[in-house]
Amino acid sequence: MRKKTQMIHGGIFGDEATGAVSTPIYQVSTYKQDGIGGLRQGYEYSRTANPTRHALEELIKDIEGGKRGFAFGSGMAAITSVMMLFNSGDHVVFTDDVYGGTYRVMTNVMNRLGIDSTFVDTSDQHQVRSAIQQNTKAIFLETPTNPLLKVTDIQAISDLAKENNLLTIVDNTFITPYFQNPLSHGADIVLHSATKYLGGHSDVVAGLVVVNSDQLGENLHFVQNSSGAILGPQDSWLLIRGIKTLGIRMEEHESNTKRIVEFLDQHDKVGKVFYPGLESHIGHEKMKQQSAGFGAMISFDVGSEEKADQLLSKIKYFTLAESLGAVESLISVPAKMTHASIPRERRLELGIADGLVRVSVGIEDIEDLLEDLEQALS
Ligand SMILES: *Cc1c(COP(=O)(O)O)cnc(C)c1O
Repeated sequence: MRKKTQMIHGGIFGDEATGAVSTPIYQVSTYKQDGIGGLRQGYEYSRTANPTRHALEELIKDIEGGKRGFAFGSGMAAITSVMMLFNSGDHVVFTDDVYGGTYRVMTNVMNRLGIDSTFVDTSDQHQVRSAIQQNTKAIFLETPTNPLLKVTDIQAISDLAKENNLLTIVDNTFITPYFQNPLSHGADIVLHSATKYLGGHSDVVAGLVVVNSDQLGENLHFVQNSSGAILGPQDSWLLIRGIKTLGIRMEEHESNTKRIVEFLDQHDKVGKVFYPGLESHIGHEKMKQQSAGFGAMISFDVGSEEKADQLLSKIKYFTLAESLGAVESLISVPAKMTHASIPRERRLELGIADGLVRVSVGIEDIEDLLEDLEQALS
């Protein structure tokens, strides 16, 4: 089955009981038993399993090519639940510019429970190798990253992880399973903030995880059922609906992005443009090998905070907001928004200039987006 078809026919198609083509929203907490322990379809209580959530979990399992899928109440709930596979005293190596919430939960919550972390530039294998300690249990990658779109070689890091008996975990939010399947490059666990492209319409907060072995599946289901950070049936249904159009949305997101990158790259008011689709981007070749597309996130430097402010005050179709991956184009200034908590010197070291603007390109008509950028930049 090809990718676009899989988005629609993957998992469980429709409803066995009624023939409904759309999976029904099973808004239910508990299930009638025919005698004690006599469960009809294996459903007992909806924290443990719910048919709508199960349909979504089967769908994400199929489109990531794994053994078992899980749906959580947010991307952070998914990441936290995966971390609960580890024990006090364990250590995990992370990509240094991971999502801010991931950094926060590791350095302010998990550390209190004895799970330690080190953050290194995972696009450099030497740095990863030297960060591995006696008690390291996993390497957690985000590729490409926010906002500089740094690319990590998933296969190379997975090989290094296997040599050292570590799990490889990949946050695949930015590029989506339509373009990139980390499990096929040796990763053990892939996860998503489904709030972004998978939902795609800025109307649901959710997280998804897929694992590549039955054992990991059992362990993560034990955590999911024990700690209970599940996704509800209504939101599960919204995600199934969102994923059906993931293929056409990603194609449109990416073709709009290519045009915008070309426009920005030759514009005299714009400095460096960060997009892995550009041949000049440091991660371009790696990305081409491991992903069928370059996605729709771009960052570019307009030179100063004032110029970024001017751009934001004039732009019409790019909504000033955090988040990404929705049908509407979004714009943000990392230094003042998502990365404001990082001291300026450290930010500049990381390459996040004061005038760096990040755009999540939507699927509006490209001519409107280009005209809007032109008028706002001039
Ligand atoms: C948004 C995001 C998260 C967190 O997901 P929520 O659904 O907001 O909890 C994790 N990783 C990445 C890359 C994200 O963009």
